[in-house]
Amino acid sequence: MKADVAEQRSLLELAELDAELARIAHRSSHLPQRQDYERIRVDEIAANDRLATLQIALEDLDAQVLRFESEVDAVQRREERDRALLQSVRDAKQLSELQHELETLQRRRSSLEDSLLEVLERREQMLAQQTAEAAMIDALQADLAGARQALDSALTEIDDVRRQRSARRDELTASLNPEFVALYERQRAGGGPGAGPLQGRRCGACRIEIDRGELARISAAAKDDVLRCPECGAILLRVTDFT
Ligand SMILES: [Zn+2]
Repeated sequence: MKADVAEQRSLLELAELDAELARIAHRSSHLPQRQDYERIRVDEIAANDRLATLQIALEDLDAQVLRFESEVDAVQRREERDRALLQSVRDAKQLSELQHELETLQRRRSSLEDSLLEVLERREQMLAQQTAEAAMIDALQADLAGARQALDSALTEIDDVRRQRSARRDELTASLNPEFVALYERQRAGGGPGAGPLQGRRCGACRIEIDRGELARISAAAKDDVLRCPECGAILLRVTDFT
């Protein structure tokens, strides 16, 4: 295959553009703004999980409060009934039984009230935690919106450069011999650069030094001969030699 010096120069520019586009793609997926955004997002999800757990615990405590309150209520009603009975009962045995029952009921009520107080205190603490967690979520959401904005503007900036370079790439490929471009693309499909400049004795694509024999063959070749690196197969561009 033949390609004149101008075409070889254009292909070198294309190879440089592709290297830059690869760097741009890497930068785009490793943006510190993306890491910031994702870190805040993880924190926000964790805070929401904690809030949901608190909510369930609070509902459970509310049920306990209701249960203790209704138990205290029932004991109280029984105490009132017993106290009313105390006024009318004359039998000594019955009196002593009633007094005994009243004492038992009072102990029971006092224990229930203690439990109720404990639950109310726990509920109070949890409500405070809930408020703090909700405030934390608000702050995280504000941070998240800021981080999203920073990420978006970084992405827009990168996209602008990407669009510019891609447009130039389209221009170059349109101007080049399609077979030359196809050869370049086939080589590139292997994963490495499709082309590289000859830099002294080195291939600019793989950075390996080319042996003397091959170099002699390269220098003997016509200027418009399309050469390949014997090491990596990249199209070897001798553009720097042809000034
Ligand atoms: Zn090479």
